[in-house]
Amino acid sequence: SVQAPALNTTRSSEIFKAAQDILPGGVNSPVRAFKSVGGNPIVFERVKDAYAFDVDGNKYVDYVGSWGPAICGHANDRVNEKLKAQIDKGTSFGAPCELENALGEMVIERVPSVEMVRFCNSGTEACLSALRVMRAYTGRDMIIKFEGCYHGHADPFLVKAGSGVITLGLPDSPGVPAAATATTLCATYNNLDEVKALFAANPGKIAGVILEPVVGNSGFIAPDKEFLQGLRETCTKEGAVLCFDEVMTGFRIAKGCAQEYWGVTPDLTTMGKVIGGGMPVGAYGGKREIMDMVAPAGPMYQAGTLSGNPLAMVAGIETLKILGEPGQYEKLDKLTKRLIEGILKAGKDNGHAVCGGHISGMFGFFFTEGPVKNFADAAKSDTEKFGRWHRAMLEEGVYLAPSQYEAGFMSLAHTEADIDATIAAAQRAMARI
Ligand code: PMP
Repeated sequence: SVQAPALNTTRSSEIFKAAQDILPGGVNSPVRAFKSVGGNPIVFERVKDAYAFDVDGNKYVDYVGSWGPAICGHANDRVNEKLKAQIDKGTSFGAPCELENALGEMVIERVPSVEMVRFCNSGTEACLSALRVMRAYTGRDMIIKFEGCYHGHADPFLVKAGSGVITLGLPDSPGVPAAATATTLCATYNNLDEVKALFAANPGKIAGVILEPVVGNSGFIAPDKEFLQGLRETCTKEGAVLCFDEVMTGFRIAKGCAQEYWGVTPDLTTMGKVIGGGMPVGAYGGKREIMDMVAPAGPMYQAGTLSGNPLAMVAGIETLKILGEPGQYEKLDKLTKRLIEGILKAGKDNGHAVCGGHISGMFGFFFTEGPVKNFADAAKSDTEKFGRWHRAMLEEGVYLAPSQYEAGFMSLAHTEADIDATIAAAQRAMARI
């Protein structure tokens, strides 16, 4: 087999070892810890464009992109310029600022279903607030989510959740009272019949359905269009709210988010990641009559000291401006298609069972024959092989999400040369594992 290039990660390991005495597990978010792929995490020193630079002086082509936000490339010059100018005007107001209107208008203008929006500070906050407004609006308590979909770490969503919950084998977390999840119903992704059966078994009790309109948190799984259309019809018929969690897909797979891509209009949408351009932001929005429930317009309470933060707003505005320029999504799609086809070919050329796909700048593949339509299909993957692949790609200077159950992200800063180098690396890595 082909000799692995040497990768010196001495400083990374020292820093991570020290971190384990300071931070639980040495990190501030679980998947960063490389638990499922083995070895120590790489400690970044700086990021720029398509690249991450670690504390040992290694350079990587980065396909994590801070887990989605870095769609214009890391530390994008235009976004940074706006941030620098804003710092001198103050980093937090705790009072209205016009920037909130500006970003809000951009969201409303681009996303078909959003008539009003509330900004918050993370995807978790967006989803837990969306859940509250779904319940407040319908006067019902139950919700339907899907196995392997992640909607942040609020109690009611930690049922068969994706992302780090799968990676770490924590289907339910201690500390979540049974009462907090008693109203959470779970169905299989891409299975409309199960959803209809849950509605039939709980007449007049289900506030709504929440899902990732392209799954990223069990790895990359595309929905069947008929599944999304069926959910829309069912929710309308049952008087329930359809909520698309577009924290990952929002402004990534299309200018008008996944709902524009699929032509299916939800009642409520959650957003995060891209909309903050690398600053901590979440948002939820939808029909005016639903959003009118939110305080102080209405009785449903939700608030935030740093919500609508001016730094986050300028980063989001500039990011959406860049994404609004002609050809950007076509560019993301073209680059990502080239990459995923190259990786799948590298897998097949070297005798591995692989399947995968992409939509615009979001992609993923599994070490299994496929097709992967839901979490149970994804769970057939050879995760040990994935661990070897991940390590081999690091040695080749390619930084991928350290879990089989995460999507990959392309940026506008990636070049065809980056992609071709990654594909060549993938061929060598697939031969080694
Ligand atoms: N929903 C989805 C679809 C996500 O992918 C994530 C984060 N990966 C969240 C919600 C939670 O967002 P955050 O990590 O910003 O709290």
